[in-house]
Amino acid sequence: MNALALASRRHGLWALLVALVVFLLALLVWLAGRFESSQVQNTLDRQAVSAVNDVRSGLNRNVQTLQAIFAGEPGPSMWSYQASTVLREHRELLRIEWRDTGLGIRAHADTPFRGAVFDRLGREHTLGDVSLACATARRFSGPAYSTSYFLPQSAGLGIEVLELCMPLVSAGQLSGYLVATYSLQDMLGELIEGGASRGVQLAFTEADGTRLALHGAVLRSNRVFTAQHLLDLPGNTLVLRIDSWRAEPDLFPNVLTALVTGLSIALLSVLAMLGKDMRRRLRAEHGLADALAFRKAMEDSLVTGLRARDLQGRITYVNPAFCAMVGLSADELLGTSAPAPYWPPELVDEYQKRQAIRLAGSSPPRQGFESVFLRKDGSRFPVLIIEAPLIDATGIQTGWMSAVVDISEQRRVEELSRTSQERLQATARLATVGEMASLLSHELNQPLAAISSYATGSLNLLPRQDGLHAELETAMRRIAEQAERAGRVIRSVHDFVRRREQDRVPVAPRALIDAVMPLVQLQARKLGVQVETVCAEGLPDVLCDATMVEQVLLNLARNAMQAMDRPEIVRRKLVLKVVLAPSNERTIHHAGWTEFSVADVGPGIAPEVAAQLFTPFFTTKAEGMGLGLSLCRTVVEQHGGFLGFDANHPQGTIFRFTLPVAPP
Ligand code: ADP
Repeated sequence: MNALALASRRHGLWALLVALVVFLLALLVWLAGRFESSQVQNTLDRQAVSAVNDVRSGLNRNVQTLQAIFAGEPGPSMWSYQASTVLREHRELLRIEWRDTGLGIRAHADTPFRGAVFDRLGREHTLGDVSLACATARRFSGPAYSTSYFLPQSAGLGIEVLELCMPLVSAGQLSGYLVATYSLQDMLGELIEGGASRGVQLAFTEADGTRLALHGAVLRSNRVFTAQHLLDLPGNTLVLRIDSWRAEPDLFPNVLTALVTGLSIALLSVLAMLGKDMRRRLRAEHGLADALAFRKAMEDSLVTGLRARDLQGRITYVNPAFCAMVGLSADELLGTSAPAPYWPPELVDEYQKRQAIRLAGSSPPRQGFESVFLRKDGSRFPVLIIEAPLIDATGIQTGWMSAVVDISEQRRVEELSRTSQERLQATARLATVGEMASLLSHELNQPLAAISSYATGSLNLLPRQDGLHAELETAMRRIAEQAERAGRVIRSVHDFVRRREQDRVPVAPRALIDAVMPLVQLQARKLGVQVETVCAEGLPDVLCDATMVEQVLLNLARNAMQAMDRPEIVRRKLVLKVVLAPSNERTIHHAGWTEFSVADVGPGIAPEVAAQLFTPFFTTKAEGMGLGLSLCRTVVEQHGGFLGFDANHPQGTIFRFTLPVAPP
């Protein structure tokens, strides 16, 4: 939940940051555009002012040029000639007239660039404008302009014109007027320096914005900048307007916005990269946290104690298992150096020497070494320590890591199996002795009985002589008595040995096998034999003397393993198996039979050996007694069972014996 809230907060912050940056960048681009627009506007304003100045000074120059026509008091034809010259040089002038004081035309000249412009309308129709201009000129005693007016031309066209009237004075007296007609459109083209540059349209407008004359390209864009400036002329005021447009509404109108946009893109990509990096880091962090949690869980679940020491012998790390082992908390252990709190006082010297050797750099044995540790309660316990150098990420050894295993339980089990082995061996010896006694009693019974009957016979045959007869008779009787006594003793020994029949109880077959497994395993490990036990589920109990049957199993297993102890047998395998014997065999007195088998992969049994296998004291081993198998057979037969053997396939021998199933 907490992590979730944190993640959503982080996402929120990121979103805010991105939004802010985007907003900032948009603002920057917009401002840059605005700045650029204002730059354009300023330039345009300056252009308008200079255009107006151009027109004004052009007009003034023209006034002087026109005055110059009258220099030297020319006659009308001379005047006309000079006026034509002026018209040729000034396209903006359409017509120049020399009028008398009553505004009658004395001479005139028309521009050579157009047809006579007044032909269509007649000059007399425009006289009103001319007279108005001249009245103003008279008032001002200088050149004055009329208001502009439209002069229709052929084909529905027309031109906007402007009249200039200049009073002519000679000897202080008004002697007439010079009237010049300007074409407004040509004024724009001719008088303004540079004319209309690309993307710019010049126009004269009236105060209300009505366009009178245009010059320059047709507007093609909706992004238009406009600047206007008043052209104040005596008698008339015109507005000069400049329209300029950007070829296209550019995304990057100029270097500044392009730069800002470029920077914004760079900033955004850095932001994106930062975000990506952040995500990667976050993932790595998660991975690390997981790995850490995994490591912690692993350390905590370990039953092996872990202890790390630095190169000075100070403890730098202990896991919970180690703490539990020695009964000290991690705080009590961390940072302590020799003698460690878990060293038994009597062994401190030895341990200190060992640690000194370790710190000097000698590698400990890979399989570990045994040691004794002290618990907090003062009890000692054996441990197995496996040490390895602790190498850090840069490959430098920073100390030693030890895995500590408490082996007291292992010791206990070893002790237990040792005593049980001793017990079994004692039982085995006892059984062997019993078997010997039983055999001896069987063998001695006959000769003793013979001695007894011979003694009795001899007694009857003795000649009757007094004295000697009586002594011999006594001796003979004694012999018979002693022989009988010996027989009784032997019978009682025999009975003693056979007495164990009473110990029979129901036992689970699995329990019989499990009882001998520790001893079998002990020898199997020594001889490199793999032991397999096969015990079907739900087998009924068998009725037997468990100790004796265990002895049988142990004997057979030991024989099998000894048979396999040959260098040429590599895959040594011993199989102990219990199954229910086929029920047709002798099931009259019992619920059935259980068959035990012990199989090996040894060399098998040669026919000449097989013939005497169960003969007491027959052995092929240097240290053998030759009583094992005969004892086994006796025990099994005493239980009513049968012991035999077969060849194992592909090699080896299987010894089998049966035991009765315990009645329910
Ligand atoms: P011991 O083991 O003291 O020799 P045993 O009566 O147990 O006496 O065995 C008699 C002989 O039977 C052994 O010496 C051995 O030659 C042979 N024998 C017993 N078991 C096997 C077996 N599984 N494979 C081969 N030979 C065996």
